Amino acid sequence: MAPRFIRVLKPLHHNKVAVQGGVNVDLLAVPKHPYAAMENWGLSVFVEQKILLDPEVSSFSYQMDLTMVLVHEICHQWLGDLVTPMWWDDVWIKEGFAHYFEFVGSDFLFPKWNMGAALIRMLADIMGQTAFQRGINRFQ
Ligand SMILES: [Zn+2]
Repeated sequence: MAPRFIRVLKPLHHNKVAVQGGVNVDLLAVPKHPYAAMENWGLSVFVEQKILLDPEVSSFSYQMDLTMVLVHEICHQWLGDLVTPMWWDDVWIKEGFAHYFEFVGSDFLFPKWNMGAALIRMLADIMGQTAFQRGINRFQ
């Protein structure tokens, strides 16, 4: 999954070092970590539950959660490590981009996910939130 997403990011980034392959992006799973994951220069560290996946047995929601975390951290290799805000007041820029690319990346990697979400959102808008919530409650 990670190499496919990295190929999406490369054309969007103009930093010659990254585009020419001068940056190594390694992913490391550790048994314990205070965060789901953390980006470092060329190395993103993940708690095992946020990087190790068996698509044969993992639930849909687990795969989605893992994809969002993975894409977020890979995005930080470009926006956060190569391009770093001057001060913590501007950290929203790198986090905003990483969060944005969670959706870009998941859409690229799993296009049916966002297509399904878009259909459900349209349905909720047409029905109205009250009727939609009533329907969800009956569905359970
Ligand atoms: Zn982040």
